[in-house]
Amino acid sequence: MGNHLFDAIRARSPAPERLLMETDDGRRISYGAAFDSAARIAATLVALGVELGDRVAVQVEKGPEAILLYLACIRTGAVFLPLNTAYTTAELDYFFTDAEPRLVIVDPARAEAIEPLARKVGARLETLGADGDGSLLAKAGTQTGEVAVAPRGADDLAAILYTSGTTGRSKGAMLTHGNLVSNALALVEAWRFTADDVLIHALPIFHTHGLFVATHVVLFSGGSMLFERKFDPKRIIAALPRATALMGVPTFYVRLLQHPELDRERARSIRLFVSGSAPLLAETHAVWRERTGHAILERYGMTETNMNTSNPYDGERRAGTVGFALPGTEVRITEPEGGRPLGPGKIGMIEVRGPNVFSGYWRMPEKTAAEFRPDGFFITGDLGLIDADGYVQIVGRGKDLIIAGGYNIYPKEIESEIDALPGVVESAVIGVPHPDLGEGVVAVVVRDGRNDVSAEAILGALTERLARFKLPRHIDFVDELPRNTMGKVQKNVLRDRYRSVFANPAG
Ligand code: ATP
Ligand code: MG
Repeated sequence: MGNHLFDAIRARSPAPERLLMETDDGRRISYGAAFDSAARIAATLVALGVELGDRVAVQVEKGPEAILLYLACIRTGAVFLPLNTAYTTAELDYFFTDAEPRLVIVDPARAEAIEPLARKVGARLETLGADGDGSLLAKAGTQTGEVAVAPRGADDLAAILYTSGTTGRSKGAMLTHGNLVSNALALVEAWRFTADDVLIHALPIFHTHGLFVATHVVLFSGGSMLFERKFDPKRIIAALPRATALMGVPTFYVRLLQHPELDRERARSIRLFVSGSAPLLAETHAVWRERTGHAILERYGMTETNMNTSNPYDGERRAGTVGFALPGTEVRITEPEGGRPLGPGKIGMIEVRGPNVFSGYWRMPEKTAAEFRPDGFFITGDLGLIDADGYVQIVGRGKDLIIAGGYNIYPKEIESEIDALPGVVESAVIGVPHPDLGEGVVAVVVRDGRNDVSAEAILGALTERLARFKLPRHIDFVDELPRNTMGKVQKNVLRDRYRSVFANPAG
């Protein structure tokens, strides 16, 4: 038996001297050098006691070494477990206790703080480092013996990725070798990636978007990456003429648009701008198109499934939609209760089935069972519809649905109306406890600072466009919406903040 994922990557890699990545500090790493390093790191992991199926927890700042470490883990048959660098020690304590890693790899600066947590779960702690001082890379540098590539089949675990925790506590999604290979191949096909592509990679790599969408699409096509540690709009704009593709979250595009240098000429060599992880505003889509001549391709994915849908490469990229199911993947809409499939245009739960769908939540068998239908469809927790032409539209998260006075209210419908008003940058609409209605609608609005739009003006405009029961009963203005590292609005934070605005029955 071979190693399903590692062999698939190696089989598609180009000549060893071809470039895999160029880093923001000017280093150039070829495919050959990357595989050599990965082999040496793999031998070091084995020497440290890592065995088939062991979890290797990794919390390091973004850098090319982390990608090499990922390749090494796959090679040894270990389970790669990347963790957000924003996590505090208290959060890490939870993840370590849950995942019970064999090995924990961190940056030198955090080693001291994390060592007791690793010890508590019996894990060995290593620093990734780059220079001397006994770090993992230093050990790998002196490694002479090679270890064989560990045998792993399509059903074996390759990674555990924790969900972003937007709706509650993060869950560990178990992703198999088969999940990752099938999804990567579908992406390469859907987006026509080839060895000639140069992707600007500025996403974090502890998340599915940066690791399994952006990195894999390059590894599986033999192309290369301009590997940016952080999203720095100036650097990205400067890099555009040397690249063919950019993958980002919506905030990337919003921030790039703030730069006057962004224009058609700059974007001439790019053949693909992709957005995902959070909704792209129709306005951003339109302005981007005007400035650069490119229609951003919006896609929809999640930790549990990698990618579900994508707008077409050829054909209309429809703003406000996330396109069609990827090749080999099925998407349907069902009644939230009962699960009966719904026809075009009807809002319901988005469900997905296919080889990309994960094998379950780590150590949560009941939760896993509850999120799958008997026929194998995974219940995403997102609400949406499929329009008459087959495009999937996300309407919001099931958990964000507001039920006020017995009516179902979709926040996105109200947000879209508010966002379209002059002077408004963006908004978030939430439901919080209301003594008479069960939930009352609250709109939290960010203004552009130039126009002084008032709560009365917003309510007046909404009254003309929306049914009475959808109108916000409380409107507040803030400087910015709370967001997590992937740019997702944290509605749970807002719900907490406004939980008592209707506590007084007169409100
Ligand atoms: P948790 O599951 O822990 O609450 P999370 O769902 O935010 O966190 P991720 O797996 O990172 O964790 O995010 C997946 C979710 O992101 C999807 O279920 C969907 O709600 C949202 N999402 C992804 N792409 C898009 C998109 N293009 N438009 C709107 N929402 C999107
Ligand atoms: Mg989720």
